[in-house]
Amino acid sequence: MAVAVVFATVAAAIGVMPIGRSHFTEVPATVAAFGAATFLAQILTAFLLYNQYRATHFRPLAVLTIAYAGSAVILVEYLLSFPGLFSSRGWFGASAQTAPWLYAAGHTFFIVYVALYAIWEWLASRSESLRGTGIATLTAAAVTIVVLLPPFVVHFEGLWPQANEGAVSEGWRTAVVPILLGAHVVAIGLLLHITRLRYSVHVWLCVVVVVSAFDVLLTTVLGGTRYTAAWYLGRLEWAIAATSFLAVLLSNVYRILLALSANNTLLHAQTVSDELTGLLNRRGFNVRLEEEIRRLQRKGEPLSVLIVDVDDFKRYNDTFGHPAGDAALRAVARIILSTLRRSPDCACRIGGEEFAIVLPESDEPGAIAVGERVRRGVERLGILQGKGASHAALTVSVGVASTEDRPGADAEALTRAADRALYEAKESGRNCVRLATTAKRSLHAVASGLGVGTF
Ligand code: GH3
Ligand code: MG
Ligand code: MG
Repeated sequence: MAVAVVFATVAAAIGVMPIGRSHFTEVPATVAAFGAATFLAQILTAFLLYNQYRATHFRPLAVLTIAYAGSAVILVEYLLSFPGLFSSRGWFGASAQTAPWLYAAGHTFFIVYVALYAIWEWLASRSESLRGTGIATLTAAAVTIVVLLPPFVVHFEGLWPQANEGAVSEGWRTAVVPILLGAHVVAIGLLLHITRLRYSVHVWLCVVVVVSAFDVLLTTVLGGTRYTAAWYLGRLEWAIAATSFLAVLLSNVYRILLALSANNTLLHAQTVSDELTGLLNRRGFNVRLEEEIRRLQRKGEPLSVLIVDVDDFKRYNDTFGHPAGDAALRAVARIILSTLRRSPDCACRIGGEEFAIVLPESDEPGAIAVGERVRRGVERLGILQGKGASHAALTVSVGVASTEDRPGADAEALTRAADRALYEAKESGRNCVRLATTAKRSLHAVASGLGVGTF
């Protein structure tokens, strides 16, 4: 892309040569339009660079900020002094020749500060941290230049080679233009030598300096007079150079944002995920349960929570060792996952050998059926239990609680109820599912003969 911009710049300059000096209609508004676009691009660039400097404290960025902010202000001074734009002669007591001087000053200022930027990069690479005073001096110099430039140019105009009424005089061509172009060549040399074009910003800074050199060439040599074809092209090129550098900075910012957001997503996933089984961890369970309870309370739908605890797991570990225990926990996690059939259902590992299942929009019979599937699934794995366990194969006990029986219950109350039901399952000999019911329901269930298996 950078090569394409340089190529287009060179091609446009060569292409415009035959008609470069042809005079076009005088439209000062084009100066205002391109000036405004360039100013906006430069000031936004300075803003982005300054913020990067604040974030990184990398001093070369501060120098580049001054280059952009300073030349943006000089551009405004140039526009104000341009004849026919804000007044017939230009402001600051300007003559018709003031604008070319401010044009030359703006370009020189920018190029000098870009060269200083390259030098500061060199200093930074040698870790000879020039103290903040270096930046303070460069800033003070820039402010002085920017403030004193208009009165200075107006006052001493007569002493230097004259640019006649918008045309470049012989004196200008032989004295000012070579200095300007020479400064561009030195800046490119420094940039190439010091930065070795390590980052896209370096490449694009070189592009900006090349395009700026062609702007000078088009405006002063190929055009030579205001409102010629080459002169118009020069205005356009400077605006393109400033805008393309801004685009590169913005796309860098955007890339950083995307990387940060991907990183954030990854970090968040890590904070809520259990490493051993890949299920949600306790924190993920809490967040999910809170979310689902809030969502379902609005809709008036029930929600059930199951707590699944591996039976006599201490014995299993003691007999077969911790690594075998880990493998068994992964097998139980797989069984739990395979029993969940709807997408909002979610499985979590909330403690060592303790799992939880959240079943949104699920009533008590549905939740008990899921608990039973998990219990049977683990039992059917036929994992041999350790010595002294209550069952020959590895089994789980399940406690179930549902908001169907506890309207308005919060996450904590629901989890506590499921825990109590789990305790009841353990008390009842393990390898079974128990439902937590409120005292009122329990009495009713017992009275109607349905109390079996509830707590
Ligand atoms: P109960 O049937 O009453 O639940 O008995 P239990 O032995 O399963 O319960 P207890 O709380 O006494 O012991 C839990 C055991 O789970 C203790 C520990 O060895 C084991 N455990 C906890 N976390 C892990 C883990 O991450 N990996 C392995 N391998 N074992 C674990
Ligand atoms: Mg246990
Ligand atoms: Mg336990």
